[in-house]
Amino acid sequence: MPLDEYRRKRKFNATPEPRGRVRGRSGHNLVFVVQKHDASRLHYDFRLEINGVLASWAVPKGPSLDPAVKRLAVRTEDHPIEYANFEGVIPEGQYGAGTVMVWDKGTYSPDGGLSPKRQLARGEIKVVLHGKKLRGGFVLLCPGRPLAEPGSKTRWLLIKRRDDYADPSWRIEDPALDRSVKTGRTLKEIKQGRPAKPSY
Ligand code: MN
Repeated sequence: MPLDEYRRKRKFNATPEPRGRVRGRSGHNLVFVVQKHDASRLHYDFRLEINGVLASWAVPKGPSLDPAVKRLAVRTEDHPIEYANFEGVIPEGQYGAGTVMVWDKGTYSPDGGLSPKRQLARGEIKVVLHGKKLRGGFVLLCPGRPLAEPGSKTRWLLIKRRDDYADPSWRIEDPALDRSVKTGRTLKEIKQGRPAKPSY
């Protein structure tokens, strides 16, 4: 079942992460989220709603708006749609222990004329992101074994497509980008349990 691996890895009486459920088909817009995750190694988790769950990739260096940059994206287990709202601290000793920030979130449109499900299966996913930080066309490419199971750590590449939102000078390290789009907090403020900023 789609969320078995997600649930097997977590103890829901010990982590604030949602147990979640697989969503049926609905008319709502497809969701994407990028979470900044200060775990044993800092990384970004890129997630796209496909088939009622969030198909997920760990992107060590995070996405880029520079089309010349190809970011390694390692496929990880599917997460529930509810996870797109998860921000907080996963306790020591639990899977993925560390602080999670909703770094960017929004909807996306599939591109290229195929459903996201078919694109995922063939190992080439073209999307247009409508986020606060990430906008425009992106492609996820899997040169190897696209049909492998979600948790099998297949290596993909995340690349910005050339369009009006491409920006070779964009840097993810820019401090202006380093706040939650959900609460306005930095990783440090999330870790300290500070409240959301008033304007969020
Ligand atoms: Mn992660």
